[in-house]
Amino acid sequence: MKVLAILYKGGDAAKQEPRLLGAVENELGIRSWLESQGHEYLVSDDKEGPNSFLHKNIVDADIVITTPFHPGYLTKELLDKAKNLKLCVTAGVGSDHVDLNAAVEKGLEVLEVTGSNVVSVAEHVVMSILLLVRNFVPAHEMIERGDWQVSDIARNAFDLEGKVVGTIGAGRIGYRVLQRLQPFNCKEFLYYDYNGLKPDAEKAINARRVEDLKEFVSQCDVVTINAPLHEGTRGLINADLLKHFKKDAWLVNTARGAICNAEDVAAAVKSGQLNGYAGDVWNVQPAPKEHPWRYMKNPLQGGNGMVPHYSGTTLDAQQRYASGTKQILENFFNNKPQEPANIIIAKKGYVTKAYGQR
Ligand code: NAD
Repeated sequence: MKVLAILYKGGDAAKQEPRLLGAVENELGIRSWLESQGHEYLVSDDKEGPNSFLHKNIVDADIVITTPFHPGYLTKELLDKAKNLKLCVTAGVGSDHVDLNAAVEKGLEVLEVTGSNVVSVAEHVVMSILLLVRNFVPAHEMIERGDWQVSDIARNAFDLEGKVVGTIGAGRIGYRVLQRLQPFNCKEFLYYDYNGLKPDAEKAINARRVEDLKEFVSQCDVVTINAPLHEGTRGLINADLLKHFKKDAWLVNTARGAICNAEDVAAAVKSGQLNGYAGDVWNVQPAPKEHPWRYMKNPLQGGNGMVPHYSGTTLDAQQRYASGTKQILENFFNNKPQEPANIIIAKKGYVTKAYGQR
């Protein structure tokens, strides 16, 4: 079979660090295994436009592997051209780079390595919440500049203790975020999710479900987004909803950039409606140099905790999603059942309940 993989370019780092398995250079560590079984394996980071490696090679590929960190966008148009395609594998978690409804129409299977990086992301969310609430980034920048003016930082630095923290999406990551925040003595933990938690799971993290989104955001000091990108979450955080946030709230989004309207969020930070925004996901990746999230600041010159998309691609996570990808391929080649939690779309349609209510 012809297997394509779209991964990010690792450069010198990937040559020096073989555990960067998710980079083009290290090819998820599956080349010799695939070739020993007679499969053809083509790997590149070149994914945009009709002359790109992805667009040219997808026409007769059987399997496409792509990573959310450098997503090969599998649009309906592109899937129409992929006459032999049977399986799309996400090396990681989050398959929104595939037009899932088109994949259903075509009877494709879409699988991801569920759970492979949920701890990695939950830890990043906790870090991002703390760095916003404690005004860390401008404090560090001040030190690098050679300055020292404690009051300029302290005037916008708070404790997380006593604050209300809420997650949009209480699945694997959202749940783990609230679990990890238990010792901080927050005032309350809230969640908004059409899939409610079981009472014992809710109790274990002291979480209260709020069913109306505006009501939910109006109660939170910190909102963290941990839901997949789909028709029901695209543009969910926009100027209209931001009006209902508490003034000075902090927003952390490590789910998907397009869940937020980029301009509306940047304007809210700039005006001080949001005290800060942090995350690692962008509506286009790689993010263009002029993207407003690179440079936005609150009126006190802080409130920006943006980084490139890396929370779920720690070396620990890469090992897990590389081996999970291999397991999915092995099951596929041998007609063995897939791990149910990994199935986003089976030939018969949606299996997951996380990509919108159907
Ligand atoms: P999950 O499937 O375990 O949980 C997602 C939860 O979101 C589910 O409970 C689902 O019901 C809920 N949800 C869906 N639509 C919703 C909506 N409209 N409103 C409220 N809740 C909604 O998934 P997970 O493992 O927790 O991952 C969540 C997302 O995080 C992924 O889909 C991916 O986009 C993102 N992610 C990012 C990184 C990263 O590196 N930044 C890594 C892994 C995952």
